[in-house]
Amino acid sequence: MKGLPIGETMRGATPAIDNRHADEIEGVGGILTPAILARRVKQRRQIQINIGLSYLLDVAVLMVYAYAGVTTATLAAAFGACGLLSVALFIAMSEAHINDRFEDHYLIVFQSTVSLSILLIFTYIAPQVGIVFLCAIFTTFTFSSLRSTPRQSAFGWTMTTAGLAVLFLLTDKPIGMPHDTPIERLGTMLQIALLLGRTMVLGLFSAGLRTSLYKRGVQLKEAYKRIEELAELDELTGSFNRRSIMRMLDDEISRALRSKQPCAVALIDLDWFKRINDKFGHPTGDEVLRTFAITMFANIRSIDRFGRYGGEEFLLILPETEEAAAERTLNRLRAIVADLDWTAISHGMTVTISAGVTKLLPDDTPDSILARADGALYRAKDLGRNKVVQV
Ligand code: GH3
Ligand code: MG
Ligand code: MG
Repeated sequence: MKGLPIGETMRGATPAIDNRHADEIEGVGGILTPAILARRVKQRRQIQINIGLSYLLDVAVLMVYAYAGVTTATLAAAFGACGLLSVALFIAMSEAHINDRFEDHYLIVFQSTVSLSILLIFTYIAPQVGIVFLCAIFTTFTFSSLRSTPRQSAFGWTMTTAGLAVLFLLTDKPIGMPHDTPIERLGTMLQIALLLGRTMVLGLFSAGLRTSLYKRGVQLKEAYKRIEELAELDELTGSFNRRSIMRMLDDEISRALRSKQPCAVALIDLDWFKRINDKFGHPTGDEVLRTFAITMFANIRSIDRFGRYGGEEFLLILPETEEAAAERTLNRLRAIVADLDWTAISHGMTVTISAGVTKLLPDDTPDSILARADGALYRAKDLGRNKVVQV
């Protein structure tokens, strides 16, 4: 198990899925902040520690074989020393941030080449216990494939196959799987069980990664939706902001003129709002704006469009609405606002609105229809407020 991702794989068996793969997802195409770099070092260190442990497991199996007399303790120690030395080298490189200079900061190709070379050399030196190294070649290759690009995998496979070809075809070494004595059989059984265990961990890791990526995908979709909403909505009132209500006005005018459907537009302004602010305070004024917007939403149709035109002035678009119906609607809304129990917000509070409403004319533009609605609104104010004027 000398491949790179074993550390990840080991961690893959733990239940904390959410943060486990954070780096691999953040790191992709993102900016490498010091926090990400630090996490990467930690992650690589963990991987190397697990690779080191994996070498020690192989050493343990070799010691069983040495006890059985198939190989020597010196060979087991030499193998362990080579493995641990490579691990120490990789940790030193990682801590010095050498890895971060490369696109693939795990240095898959480099590390697996070193690991596979060690394993092939030891298969050559000690072919009688070749099973240990062949199993390790299998796991190294499998685990490094998990993080490799197709090109890296193809390269790794070609190099490993070339090494195996040299070993199997150009030498006559009898590569063995000791099983003559019970101790030898125990060693072999152990190595195969360890191979299965490592493959199982790989499976668990892959499943964890898939779940994690899926969750991230869902989170990203939600965040994107939220950003879109925020870009469209007015923060205070939750109604459409000026940009989106103006775009809707444009769209509704085009649609109505194209389909020859009636359409009405109203500018609504809160009366004496400055006084409300002065008397009850700005935060209470905000609360009034919010309550007003909620009241409007509760009393308009789903096809109507309501947005904040500016300050305490709102734009209401009423598609498929004749002027008489529009005036009735605005008067109904005006009465609802006036009748609302505003004392729930602040003692002694009353709030009214004035509105200027107009119907769409055949050669109207957004500017011309708004100018008419604005003129009507002024007249409503002149008439003493809490009024709807239709032009
Ligand atoms: P009129 O009946 O003629 O419309 O009088 P008015 O006091 O409502 O009109 P004016 O234009 O004099 O004042 C509007 C006030 O609305 C002034 C401004 O501070 C307040 N205002 C605008 N935006 C906000 C807001 O987001 N929150 C609060 N609390 N007040 C706002
Ligand atoms: Mg006002
Ligand atoms: Mg105003």
